Amino acid sequence: MIPVEDALETILEAVSPLGVESVSLSESLGRTLACEITARWANPPWDNSAMDGYALRAAETAGASKDAPVTLRVAYDLPAGSAPGADVGEGEAVRIMTGAPVPTGADAVVMVERTQRGDADGTVRIMAAARVGENIRKAGEDFQRGERVLEKGTLIRPAEIAMLATAGASAVRVYRRPRVAVISTGDELVETGPAPGPGKIPNSNGPALCALVAGCEAVPVDLGIAADTVESLREKLTEAQACDCIVSSGGVSVGDYDFVKDVLEELGSEMVFWKVAMKPGKPLAFGMIGGKPAFGLPGNPVSSMVAFEQFVRPALMKMAGAAACKRRTFRARLTEDIRTKPGRKNFIRAVLSSDEHGLCATPLEHQGSGMISTMVRANALIVVPADGRGFERDEIVGVEPLDSSILFEPTDPGS
Ligand code: AMP
Ligand code: MG
Repeated sequence: MIPVEDALETILEAVSPLGVESVSLSESLGRTLACEITARWANPPWDNSAMDGYALRAAETAGASKDAPVTLRVAYDLPAGSAPGADVGEGEAVRIMTGAPVPTGADAVVMVERTQRGDADGTVRIMAAARVGENIRKAGEDFQRGERVLEKGTLIRPAEIAMLATAGASAVRVYRRPRVAVISTGDELVETGPAPGPGKIPNSNGPALCALVAGCEAVPVDLGIAADTVESLREKLTEAQACDCIVSSGGVSVGDYDFVKDVLEELGSEMVFWKVAMKPGKPLAFGMIGGKPAFGLPGNPVSSMVAFEQFVRPALMKMAGAAACKRRTFRARLTEDIRTKPGRKNFIRAVLSSDEHGLCATPLEHQGSGMISTMVRANALIVVPADGRGFERDEIVGVEPLDSSILFEPTDPGS
């Protein structure tokens, strides 16, 4: 058996980023930047007002208060979107709106709440002393023209889209999305829908793996079910080579009909067949077929999903150009004991939540690798190292969140 970490290292060394394409800003969410982004202009482009108020010379408001206001002449109005008129002269103020450029001559903005407009005489009473620079957002304080604002390999989230838009990038170079062939193997499998006949079960790995692929911002290509024959597997795996990556499930252990290994070996130049020291999930085939990574995942539904998370997701992220593709482990306090046998790294389905002391992890009952219901209830995996025998309640353990469902507090169904 080989350690999970060694298997992942070998896989990540074998795969590399795919080609690059150009997409519009609106299509770029979830993609990975294939080049660094340099700002075409500064942000803010000019000094501008952070408040609705009056732009003025701070020195002229020295000592101003409610009881002793300073009266200034209002030179003109300056809404957002218009260019400043004349410079602000002595004894003058400009009525300015949030986001409007600060006119030359002014060095502060007093918020409107601290002023009182003279009724008809075109004056304003300033009722607070202003500091130089007060309520002014300086040109370039966010970033300067020519500054590198985004790195190559960055995942594009809404914040990156705001940055791209502000920095003047209307189209972006991103890595191509990997197309991933998904093959389910097993004579017992039927597509879900009609009641399965005797000895048959619905194919759940196919739809689940396609969904996992889509969740990696990759493109699933569902090739359906292969029978447990060399011919059927050969046909599907040959068809799969039109994609950038192949993921199959089932048929990789030591059963009489587990031919995936044989066919992968026949088609692939450098296949490896591992017994990975993990639970769930021991058997795993990996190799390159025509320069494309092929994963033979175990058949048990939970094993295939856990193996996908450990090996396929990081590989797809690297192929999609991501600079960060190794899973982060969080620390959480265990709410119940866990017992495991040493020898394999255990991934225990769990509920990760947060109490007044921080993160806490509750292991779920029914950890069998066919128990989809436990996977449904889980939002994280507790990691028990291969040399461990489990943990006691209140110990601090490593936890891998499964998805963004950990971000939200479940609502009480009664409320
Ligand atoms: P195998 O490794 O092919 O022997 O499969 C191990 C277990 O996983 C068996 O109980 C299979 O019936 C089950 N299994 C394999 N593939 C699938 C699938 N696509 N959907 C649901 N269960 C599966
Ligand atoms: Mg099978």
